[in-house]
Amino acid sequence: MRKISFKSKTTVLITLLTAIMCFASVMGMIAMSKRTVNAEIQQQLISTVERNTDEIEIENGILEIENDFVFYTNGIYCDVFDSNHAYIDGETPHKLLITDNFNAGEITIHEKNGNEYYVYDTCLEFSKYEYEIDVFSGQIIKYGADAVKPGTLEEKNHSNFFFENGISTEEAIDTALSHAGANRNNSQIIKAELQAHENRQVFLIEFTCSNPLYGNIWLRGSTPADTVQNAFGAINKTFIYMIPMFIIIAALGAYLISKKTIKPVENISKSAREISSGNDLSKRINSGNGSDEIAVLADTFNQMLQRLQTSFESEKQFTSDASHELRTPLAVIKAECEYALSDKADNDDKEEALISINEQNEKMTKLVNSLLSLARTEQGTQRFKFEKTNLSELIEQICEGFVPEKGIRIEYNIENDIYYSVEASLISRMLENLLSNAVRYGNKNGNINVTLKKGKNRIILSVKDNGIGIKENDIDKIFGRFYRADSSRSNSDGFGLGLALVDRIVSLHGGKAEVKSVFGEGSEFSITFFEKN
Ligand code: ADP
Repeated sequence: MRKISFKSKTTVLITLLTAIMCFASVMGMIAMSKRTVNAEIQQQLISTVERNTDEIEIENGILEIENDFVFYTNGIYCDVFDSNHAYIDGETPHKLLITDNFNAGEITIHEKNGNEYYVYDTCLEFSKYEYEIDVFSGQIIKYGADAVKPGTLEEKNHSNFFFENGISTEEAIDTALSHAGANRNNSQIIKAELQAHENRQVFLIEFTCSNPLYGNIWLRGSTPADTVQNAFGAINKTFIYMIPMFIIIAALGAYLISKKTIKPVENISKSAREISSGNDLSKRINSGNGSDEIAVLADTFNQMLQRLQTSFESEKQFTSDASHELRTPLAVIKAECEYALSDKADNDDKEEALISINEQNEKMTKLVNSLLSLARTEQGTQRFKFEKTNLSELIEQICEGFVPEKGIRIEYNIENDIYYSVEASLISRMLENLLSNAVRYGNKNGNINVTLKKGKNRIILSVKDNGIGIKENDIDKIFGRFYRADSSRSNSDGFGLGLALVDRIVSLHGGKAEVKSVFGEGSEFSITFFEKN
């Protein structure tokens, strides 16, 4: 299968994500606003109908719809129906279409001729009666009934008045009740008080009655639901047309963004390809001036290249040095063999040739062994067994077992019971190398001082001699592989691998090897092991 590029993947992903987000948020917004607008419209419908309930009453037996009754406002129509749902009054153009299914106190949806309407009904009883009765004659001056919701009025206390040559409050109540066809058992007195009315003293009697004389009436508010649906339908349609546009814009944006983002990465891989095909490790990737993640990536690549270059060059140097060291004895062996096999060589010559060949062979064996030891230590710590060891005892044993030549004396000053986690065979190898060097580059009848002491979080081993010393400009290089200072080449049969091995062994133990030396006076090699807390 063909690989899909990062750019294409990012473009597709960002486009998809943007499209989904756009779609979801617009749908969410539409749903929310639809709900809010619907709720707002329904609330308006309810409050318009409820306000109108105060504007209906019966006066002296006649149904009165007051002037303040709102028949139409803001798309809401209000109609009045009697208890049999017969239409009484209203202005709704669709009145005849929606006179069925009355549900008090609820918003319902009615469908007529393919149109939907929100409908809110309220049912009222003419159960609150009002009477004005002349105090002196006991005549009913005015009477009527208010349309109220059943059970919304409460009985109030009233005091009894009595007038000379007139009627009492109780008599006025009885007159009103009997006129309304009610009695004390099926009614509740709300108000019974004395009032002045057009220069007359009247009793104002208000009561509710459980079997209303004038029956129920219904108020129905209605508003077309389609207005909202249509508005949102238009928005939906617009949005559907806009979806492809959204996707195109998102895709274009995503493509540009991913192109811009991937450009520096492409530059890096181009440089890496050039370096790899040109086989030139000295080339570096241009990381630009930025400090962003890409610049950090380029820097990391450059650091890696630097390390590769260093290690590659040092390997090259090492191979060339090793072959050089092997070539000399091999050349000698070849020459000796040719001479011994020639007619010119007598028995003594042949013996001398064999002795020389043997010496060269020993030299090569030593070199190969040193290379092998170094190679083993280069492979890391896994192959060695590090154990907490009494370093004091180990160092002392090695010193005691070492037999110096050239009349050199070895003295040691070792602090007791210093413990450290070491691989004993490696430590022996390391100390033996230092001691052999001290002898090899030491003066006849000289001294070697070995000390081991414990400092703060560290253990220091030092091997000091009073030999030929090291020139200042050689000091930094002597731990390198195959390095031999010129001054020591003449009196050394070494290969320049001893200190490289020392340095490697010390780092395997997490330590550090250093040297201080004064040319002509002697050298001191110190090995520091760091104790972990
Ligand atoms: P070699 O086999 O040549 O001794 P080493 O790696 O052990 O190789 O030492 C590297 C070089 O460091 C030596 O050639 C010598 O010049 C210098 N060197 C090492 N130890 C001493 C010492 N104790 N005194 C003076 N020079 C030393």
